[in-house]
Amino acid sequence: MSLSLREYSRVVFFTGAGLSAESGVPTYRGSGGIWDSYDYRDYACQSAFERDPGKVLDFHEERRSVALSCEPNDAHRRIARFASGSSSSLILTQNIDGLQQRAGAGRVLELHGSLWRLRCDPCGKVREDLASPQYSTRHCDCGRILRPDIVWFEDLLDSSLLESAIRAISDCDCLLSVGTSASVYPAAELPLIAMQAGATTIEINLEETPLSPLYHHSLQGKASEILSELIS
Ligand code: NAD
Ligand code: ZN
Repeated sequence: MSLSLREYSRVVFFTGAGLSAESGVPTYRGSGGIWDSYDYRDYACQSAFERDPGKVLDFHEERRSVALSCEPNDAHRRIARFASGSSSSLILTQNIDGLQQRAGAGRVLELHGSLWRLRCDPCGKVREDLASPQYSTRHCDCGRILRPDIVWFEDLLDSSLLESAIRAISDCDCLLSVGTSASVYPAAELPLIAMQAGATTIEINLEETPLSPLYHHSLQGKASEILSELIS
């Protein structure tokens, strides 16, 4: 393949669950996905949390346990290496598993939040909680129960984070989308901004997605294998 990311200086890596699939983190959709076994209305929305916070926190501890038992893969490491050597490039992920950071990436914009943070909306406090699958505490200093700092179903994206993402995408010279089904909005629409701004756009996925026909290069295959050719 003659395509090389080294020709670009402002690359936005836009990543999804497929990037971590090779590490063993299950995707949420599709066969074998988490939402086959769990109903998101009981585990991943604000009203479920208000109804039964313990059940929702138990579910997220289970997700933390799975993520901790998985290791970053070669695709995470190549992306981290490229971004740390290219100060104008950015990693923008929909993943909440923290594997990209464990692969050595510095700055990662986490559009959908993180399994490794809890927050208290009334106080505005955010608490990083990295050590083990179990949260070190489930309560804020104010006494309220903390909620995972994750964008659940029906939640809005953080607006300042979304603005930073849009700014970087509008200004990039290459957008590389890796392992995302382009089905979760508004994140799925972000690559369109790069397309309109004239950047080179590349998609890596095992299969065709609704946006595939719009990319300059739609590459089908495993993220780790294709990235080893794009970033050698
Ligand atoms: P998705 O589950 O909707 O789609 C995953 C995509 O990855 C699919 O299109 C699939 O064909 C592709 N894929 C699978 N294995 C691949 C591989 N080895 N190489 C390349 N592509 C591969 O994921 P999404 O688009 O990220 O949306 C899911 C949402 O759920 C995300 O927004 C995220 O918040 C959350 N989520 C996060 C994680 C995680 O943190 N690892 C896992 C599941 C879901
Ligand atoms: Zn509080």
